[in-house]
Amino acid sequence: MRPGATTDLLIVDGDLAAGPAPAGTESVDLGGRAVIAGLADHHVHLLALAASWSSVDLSPSCLDEAGGLGAALRAGRARQPDGWIRGFGYDVTGSGALDRRELDGLGIGPVRVQDRTGILWVLDSRGLDELLPADPRLWPDGVQRDASGAATGVLVRLDRWLRERVAAPVPDLGAVGGWLASRGVTSVTDAGADNGETELALLAAAGLPQRVVAMVRDLHVAAPPGIEVGPIKVLLDDDRLPDIDDLAGRIEAAHAHGRAVAVHCVTEVQVALALAAGVDRRDRIEHGSVVSDGGLAALARAGPTIVTQPGLVATRGDRYLADHDPSDLAALHRLRSFLDAGLRVAASSDAPYGPADPWIGLAAAVDRRTASGALFGGDEAVDRRTALRLLAGDPHDPGTPRLLAAGEPADLVILDTEWGATTPQPSVLATLRSGRLIAGRLP
Ligand SMILES: [Zn+2]
Repeated sequence: MRPGATTDLLIVDGDLAAGPAPAGTESVDLGGRAVIAGLADHHVHLLALAASWSSVDLSPSCLDEAGGLGAALRAGRARQPDGWIRGFGYDVTGSGALDRRELDGLGIGPVRVQDRTGILWVLDSRGLDELLPADPRLWPDGVQRDASGAATGVLVRLDRWLRERVAAPVPDLGAVGGWLASRGVTSVTDAGADNGETELALLAAAGLPQRVVAMVRDLHVAAPPGIEVGPIKVLLDDDRLPDIDDLAGRIEAAHAHGRAVAVHCVTEVQVALALAAGVDRRDRIEHGSVVSDGGLAALARAGPTIVTQPGLVATRGDRYLADHDPSDLAALHRLRSFLDAGLRVAASSDAPYGPADPWIGLAAAVDRRTASGALFGGDEAVDRRTALRLLAGDPHDPGTPRLLAAGEPADLVILDTEWGATTPQPSVLATLRSGRLIAGRLP
């Protein structure tokens, strides 16, 4: 149907259907309110997001408010007298390097602090003593050591190792699912690079109101009922890039099984490596945060879907503007130029590492404004309809927007506003998944 048209929507057995309505069909007058396709978050870390809700936010703005790292963590300890204190969102570059000694000085252990990218954890000595084997030869790779061989407290890419060892309450995924539904999200793709049977079982047990697709760490991970298995997630780190033949082998194996890969690429070299290793139209590039003009042309030739995070322009844009040479900024967090190059593009939150609210990302895709209001890469802005389409894709083909058409699942968001009046962050009146109300109320 034509966008903005006033029309009837018929839902039969959870799907949109063509008329006439069967006898006994219940009718609801939406009073001219706008109806859009249910939003999909194509890249979100649900377990980390749920954990962050019972943790201490150590992002720069929260540290300013709390009066510094020590004050924020001590306040966390006051709220939670026992067990591990978990901090997240700490900006190692902006707020200062961190190691065990600094955390020891607070005397509130055991404590663990995740940096804002999710790559590093920093533990205090009490925490390290609880987790690390006495014999350093048994420590996993990723335990950073000082010149004397002692652990500094920094753990690199040991998220899963840590999760398996810290006695922490099961994160409240239900609260996350309910809140996302209230923001209009009907489908989520969990992007956990470590996702195996344990993680998928947790996601399945939560009974989220959304359709849940989970990326997995390898081909052998099977999905429990209620979860769909998505692409194989491939994590790249500049300081330990895989051998290109190994990577090509993984991609080839995935393709041979009819599966896609989703390659985490936040630097130019990672994009180049992914392409050289055989990423193609079946696959996804996650983030694509830095893409030069040459990189853009190469991506357009290979044709993977780009799954980007417009919301990071809002939350990190001021930092980028301060840290980067103006000539480098054009390559950062592109959006419109991906579309102009003919690439399929989808939007996502990367929460908790980006803002979880899809409307923050949508607003930033349209206005390209940072938190302070500065314009960031204004040429990369898209109009509101395009922005909505970036969140309307099927999770298994995120760059191709679903239409509100007969035969499609009735995953719908009813906005408390008329179509033309859509404000950047309109209020969501009701969210339906397969025709069933999962948040809000009908008028
Ligand atoms: Zn991510």
